[in-house]
Order: sequence, then C-alpha cells, then structure tokens
Amino acid sequence: MSDTMEGKVVLVTGASSGIGQATALALSKAGARVAVGARRADRLKSLAQDAPGEILALELDVTDRQSVNDAVAATVERFGALDVLVNNAGVMLSGQILGADTTEWTRMVETNLLGSMYAVHAALPHLLRHKGAVVQISSTSGRTASAASAVYAATKFGITAFSEALRQEVTAQGVRVIVVEPGFVATELTTHITDPAIQAMAKSMAESMRTLQPQDIAEAVLYALAQPEHVAVNEILIRPTDQTR
Ligand code: NDP
Repeated sequence: MSDTMEGKVVLVTGASSGIGQATALALSKAGARVAVGARRADRLKSLAQDAPGEILALELDVTDRQSVNDAVAATVERFGALDVLVNNAGVMLSGQILGADTTEWTRMVETNLLGSMYAVHAALPHLLRHKGAVVQISSTSGRTASAASAVYAATKFGITAFSEALRQEVTAQGVRVIVVEPGFVATELTTHITDPAIQAMAKSMAESMRTLQPQDIAEAVLYALAQPEHVAVNEILIRPTDQTR
C-alpha cells in the first residue's frame, strides 16, 4: 500500500477525529497530498504533524456552502488539483421521533446530507478534469433503518440515493463513486447523543463486541482507491464480525 496514492490530491472532510482522521493519515502514508477539513482546527494541526506527507489543514464547516467552496478552492490552489473527495463529516444524534428536539434533525440533515452534497457540487468540476473519485462515508444505517435512528438513517439513505444518481452521471467520464457503509466503529460519534438512555445503549452495544477501528475503514477506502482505473468498487459494507444487527 505504500505508494498507491503517490501524487494524488485528496480532500477529507471531518478529519479531526475518528474515521476521517485515520483515512487522512492512511492516504498520507500511501503518498497522497491531503487537505483535511473540520471545525476543530487545533486537532487538524496535530494531524498535520503526525502525517508523513504534505497536509493542508482547513477550518471547514460543511453546513456552510461558502466554507465548503472555500475549502475546495484552497485545496486546488495549494496542490494544483483535486483527485479524490472523501465525504466523511457526519453527526449521529440518535433518538426517538416522539418528542425529539428537531434542531438535532436539522443538524444531521445539514451536516450529513446537504454538507456532503455541497462538497460534491464544489469538487466535481475538478474530479471530472482528473478522472477522480468520490468516497461517500455512509453507514449500515443507509441500508437498514432502526428505531431511534430515523433521521440519521434518512440522511444515510439519502447519501445512497444521491451517490447512485451521481455515479450514473459521471462514471462514463471516468469518475468513480465509492459508497462505504461501516457498522459499529469505535470513535467519538456516539458521545454527541443527547438522550442518556440511547447514549447508554450505544455504550453497552460497543462493550458487547469487538468493534471496528477507524483504521479498518481507512484500509477499505484505500483498497477501493487503489484499483485500476477500469475497476469501480461502488459499495463496501463492512461490519464488526460480532455485530449481529
Ligand atoms: P467522529 O465524531 O469521530 O468524527 C466526525 C467528524 O465529522 C469529526 O471530524 C467532526 O469534526 C466532523 N464534523 C462534524 N460536523 C461537522 C461540520 N459541520 N463541518 C465539518 N466537519 C464536521 O465520528 P466518526 O469518525 O465515526 O464519523 C465519521 C463518519 O462515519 C460519519 O459520517 C458517520 O456517520 C460515519 N459512520 C460512523 C460509524 C461509527 O460507528 N462510528 C458507522 C457508520 C458510519 P469537527 O467536530 O471538528 O468539525
């Protein structure tokens, strides 16, 4: 894997922790020049210090279309191109529909769904120029919805719909669309859940199994990106072996 991404320019959203951070590091180790975006800029600075290759740290809020446009423009200005967008930024504010705080719904839709759409919109002209790729970090919740995950699942189902339409629009022009659907990964994701009962459920679920690690997802992303140009790995479903549902 050491130089499979040599010379490629990648933008990873949500790279300040978890899957995004691990993916940015793995891509850097594989030779890519990586722009990393998130709201917590301090975390991005330490990522830049740990990475072996060139890193551009960008303060980015994907819910703000201008911020997304600026991040793509800054990446192209610094590295002269954009080959791969890893659309990873996301929040999971699980809870029942009845009595929900709907501002949490707005945040999930604006971050997970609209934010990733803005990023594709801004990056696509560059990806078309370089026959690049879009990696969409979806979820098993993008395949199967369950109680207390209605809105989160709706955002991830939305990503699947958007990605398939995108694929049909750009695949003949050489742009590959890769949807990654992880099961339970040990990250900060569940710590933002505000309902204490759901938060406790997520914790006990994590303790009941050998969860995936962020690096496991990073390896899957690298695998898909390392394929020859005529091979499009369009979907990767990756669960912990111990996860039954
Ligand atoms: P983390 O909470 O560790 O990472 C989420 C990342 O998204 C952070 O870097 C955060 O950065 C960023 N983010 C959140 N809101 C915004 C925003 N408005 N603008 C820019 N960046 C933002 O969780 P994960 O690594 O687990 O999550 C990454 C992706 O993986 C998400 O899309 C999630 O849905 C998906 N996923 C995770 C699974 C899991 O079990 N962990 C399973 C399936 C999918 P900051 O706060 O600094 O802005």
